[in-house]
Amino acid sequence: MSLIPKSADIKPGETFDLIIVGLGPAAYSAALYAARYMLKTLVIGETPGGQLTEAGEVDDYLGLIGINAQDMIKVFNKHIEKYNVPVILDHVESFRKDGDEFVVKAKKKGEFKAKSIILAIGVKRRKLNVPGEAEFTGRGVSYCSICDAPLFKNRIVAVIGGGDSALEGAEILSRYATKVYLIHRRDEFKGQPIYLENIKAKPNVEIILNTVVTEIKGDKLVKSIVTKNVKTGETKELNVNGVFVEIGFEPPTDFARANGLETDTMGYIKVDEWMRTNIQGVFAAGDCTGMWLGFRQVITSAAQGAVAAHSAFRYLNEMKRKK
Ligand code: NAP
Repeated sequence: MSLIPKSADIKPGETFDLIIVGLGPAAYSAALYAARYMLKTLVIGETPGGQLTEAGEVDDYLGLIGINAQDMIKVFNKHIEKYNVPVILDHVESFRKDGDEFVVKAKKKGEFKAKSIILAIGVKRRKLNVPGEAEFTGRGVSYCSICDAPLFKNRIVAVIGGGDSALEGAEILSRYATKVYLIHRRDEFKGQPIYLENIKAKPNVEIILNTVVTEIKGDKLVKSIVTKNVKTGETKELNVNGVFVEIGFEPPTDFARANGLETDTMGYIKVDEWMRTNIQGVFAAGDCTGMWLGFRQVITSAAQGAVAAHSAFRYLNEMKRKK
C-alpha cells in the first residue's frame, strides 16, 4: 500500500461532476462517497493525509484499533483506488463560476472544470508571534512534536499549548527528552482528560500553568525561553533545546473570502448542516469549516466529507431535473 494515491490521467477540456479540493480525511471520505454515488470525480490536493501526516498512533477512529497514522493514510488511498478516483497532487489557487460550471485553477496543472466543488482544504498552524520564534524555526522551534520528537533525545524541551496537540506532543516528547516543560496560558486544559492523565504519570514532565512564553533565545540553536506568569507577572528564563509550539490552527479565511465564500466570525468557511456554503454547488468539509469547532477528529472530518458528497449528489440531480 502506498502513501501517495495513484495520479490521474485527465483529458484536456474534460468536465467533472465534482472536484474535491484537499487530501485530508474529509477529502478522502468525500471521494469515497462521491465514487459510490457514481459521480465523475477529481481530487486535487497537496499532501496525502493532510494533518494526519503529523499524527502518531490514532486510537479514536472506530474499527481501526491503535493504527499508525501513516498506515491509516495508506488504507485511505487503497480505499479510493478501489473506486479508481483520480487524484492530482497540486495546490488550488482559486475557483470561479463560468456559466453552469466552475473553473478550478491549480498552480502547476492549470484549469479544471466541474459542475460542483467540495472544499476540504484544512487549516494552517498558528504561530506564537514572539521574538526569536521565526529566527529559530527549524533550529529548535518546531510545530510538530510527533514529527520532530526523535531529534530531541536526551534534550530539554518546552511544549506550549493546552489542547490535544500539546498534550499528545508532551507525551511523545517525554519518551525522548530528559525533561519536558508543558506550558499553558490558563489553569485548565482543553485537551482530552485521558491525555492529561498520561502526562501526569510521566516523571520527566513538568506542567507550568497560567504562563506564556514571551521570548525564545539562542545563538545558532535555541538555548532558552523567557516565560511570564500571567497572574503574578513573574518572569523566568528556562534553559531548553527545543520549543514545540502546539497552539492550534488558523482557518483559510483569505482563500475563502477571495473566492466569494462567507466565513464565520472566526474566519472559518460558513456551512449549513448539509455542508453547503453560500455559493450554490460549492460545499465544504473538515477543519476549514466552522462546523463542530473545538472538536476536530479524523472521524468528524470523515463524517463531514461524506455529508458533503451526499449533498453534491443531490445538488447535481436537482440541476439535471431543472434542465
Ligand atoms: P486547540 O484545541 O485550538 O488548542 C490550542 C491551545 O493553544 C489552547 O489551549 C489555547 O489556549 C492555546 N493557545 C492558543 N493561542 C495561544 C497563544 N497565542 N499562546 C499560548 N497559547 C495559545 O488546538 P490543538 O490542540 O492543536 O487541537 C486542534 C484540534 O485538533 C482540536 O479540535 C483537537 O481536539 C484536535 N486534535 C485531536 C487529537 C486527537 O488525538 N484526537 C490530537 C490533536 C488534535 P486556551 O485553552 O486558553 O484557548
